[in-house]
Amino acid sequence: MASQWVDLRDLKFLLNEVLNIGENLLGKGRYKDHDVDMCNMVLDQAAKFAEAEIAPTYPDEVHRKPVEATYDNGKVSTPEAYKRLWNLYCEGGWISTAESYEVGGQSLPVCLAAACNHMFLGCNQSFALYPSLTHGAARLMEDFFQHPLRDVVIEKMYSGQWGGTMCLTEPGAGSDVGALKSTAKKNADGTYSIVGTKCFISSGDHDLTENIIHPVLARIEGDPNGTKGISIFMVPKIRFDEKGKLTEPNDVYCSGIESKMGLHGNATCTLNFGDNGKCIGYLMGQERQGMQIMFHMMNEERQGVGMMGASLATAAYLHALDYAKQRLQGQSVTATAAKGENVPQVPIIQHPDVRRMLLKMKSITDGIRALCLFCYYCMDNEFNAVLEGNDEKKEYWHGMIEILTPLVKSYGSDMGMEVCGLAVQTYGGYGYCREYPVEQMMRDQKINTIYEGTNGIQALDLLGRKLGMKKGVNFMNLIGLTQAAIAEAKANENLKNDAEIVEGALNACAATASAFTQMMKTTPFVPLIAASDFLNCLSDALLGWLHIWMANIAVKKLPKAASEQDKAFYNGKIHGAKFFINRITALAPAKLDTLKKDEQSAMNISEDAFAV
Ligand SMILES: Cc1cc2nc3c(=O)[nH]c(=O)nc-3n(C[C@H](O)[C@H](O)[C@H](O)COP(=O)(O)OP(=O)(O)OC[C@H]3O[C@@H](n4cnc5c(N)ncnc54)[C@H](O)[C@@H]3O)c2cc1C
Repeated sequence: MASQWVDLRDLKFLLNEVLNIGENLLGKGRYKDHDVDMCNMVLDQAAKFAEAEIAPTYPDEVHRKPVEATYDNGKVSTPEAYKRLWNLYCEGGWISTAESYEVGGQSLPVCLAAACNHMFLGCNQSFALYPSLTHGAARLMEDFFQHPLRDVVIEKMYSGQWGGTMCLTEPGAGSDVGALKSTAKKNADGTYSIVGTKCFISSGDHDLTENIIHPVLARIEGDPNGTKGISIFMVPKIRFDEKGKLTEPNDVYCSGIESKMGLHGNATCTLNFGDNGKCIGYLMGQERQGMQIMFHMMNEERQGVGMMGASLATAAYLHALDYAKQRLQGQSVTATAAKGENVPQVPIIQHPDVRRMLLKMKSITDGIRALCLFCYYCMDNEFNAVLEGNDEKKEYWHGMIEILTPLVKSYGSDMGMEVCGLAVQTYGGYGYCREYPVEQMMRDQKINTIYEGTNGIQALDLLGRKLGMKKGVNFMNLIGLTQAAIAEAKANENLKNDAEIVEGALNACAATASAFTQMMKTTPFVPLIAASDFLNCLSDALLGWLHIWMANIAVKKLPKAASEQDKAFYNGKIHGAKFFINRITALAPAKLDTLKKDEQSAMNISEDAFAV
């Protein structure tokens, strides 16, 4: 029976048949010690761990009793099941799968580690956020914490003895990080005294680890306002010596956790730093480099959040599919017409509208999963280019990541939300009830559109920074990259029309991008109002490309399929591609034409006219 939690077959297809990591990555450079068998084994183990150990901890209610992180007088406790799970997770080495041997990792490809993480996140995002943030913070320490304490910090974090967070947000500084009020004052010994309050800090305090390392943004006294004056500090919950021995508390206090729509197992904390004037921080990088450095972690987390969108979408879709095969309701359209009354009920998967929902969910999920993994694959290529000392290649892959990151984060989470909504719809009234997990998945999914920079902020990043970066070269490289798969599909009668639709949509995106660049100088509100819709149209077009790429492979492999299961899989890829391209990508050019029109009602309407 197919899994209701993970799509292992599709992950293997993406890594082995689409990205072809066996030829393109393994056995060379950073991945010289690994081969396809080894990577498939890691994926199998991850799938087993995800389904057998993580998925059973998912429900945020058992026998109508909440399973959630709790707060009591300064102490944060995670759900009981998380403690054993955390230990298993660390023993399995899952925090540092893709890290280098020098820091205790396994030096496996980033796209493989991401595929494993995809399964973990889909089985319980609340739990998986604890190790994900620990990993992100550890990477930041590895790259930017130049201090005698560095080695012990990264060893403890990658092994899971200590946790990690990211501390940007303050009550008055959400999207506008530059408005933060936390301060840092230099001490005679070179450390800094940190004072401030951070809110909404995921995994900010908990009982899974003996210590927690907080990368904290703060302004050194006298430094300029705005993002330019921000520095970043390594602030431990408990101080420690160079051997990692814990010494004394560091005046970091959790004053409460949020009561939220979803993600109940993850503690979203308000953290007070230095209420008693005794919080010590260590500068990372140079003074006033805080935003530049934090962006390294933010980009990793943004890619991770897009993956969270794809992960929950996968689990929601697979649950809905299973339900649709079992739920009997209504008669078959053809049978009703033929036989009149007393016709038996059929599983709802036989109804055209339910099949529409299922194929929409499948094609979106397959597409955003491919988009996320492709972005991680770009990172692997960048790593290898650095090792080769090939600057041109490095710039090429880095540019690709720059432009893909806002798309991965925003589209992955928005479309993930749409899939969760469709999954609830497929269950009908039962989907709205706590008895079935899709209700929780929809609640958990929503946060992915908000944190790590809201999706509105991602759209502005794409339009205002990423499209024009390096005079548009990154964007044009991305469009250029799509051409080979489109050309291959155009030569195949079965895929020709679909390929032309994708080509038309990508051309329309390129034309709109250049029109918007001009409009930013004349009628800036037009592109600014359109930014989110433009990001979505570009993603609709790019997912069309990824679907064409996948369909090209499926068309070739279908006649030689080794089993009925493989045959069904490749057929599914072709139908999914056709559905997505004809029902979603095909609409992009018309939408883009509309977006370019000088329609500024959103700005022209006065504030009191929104509601009287
Ligand atoms: C569960 C949870 C976990 C979180 N985890 C963390 C964490 O671990 N670390 C951390 O530092 N933060 C964390 N956050 C904070 C999160 O990143 C912020 O909530 C988010 O960045 C938005 O900030 P805000 O809530 O203040 O909303 P606001 O910034 O007030 O935004 C409100 C609305 O206005 C829009 N908006 C704001 N400014 C602009 C603009 N200039 N142009 C266009 N639109 C704009 C936004 O898109 C949004 O729709 C978390 C939040 C939650 C809810």
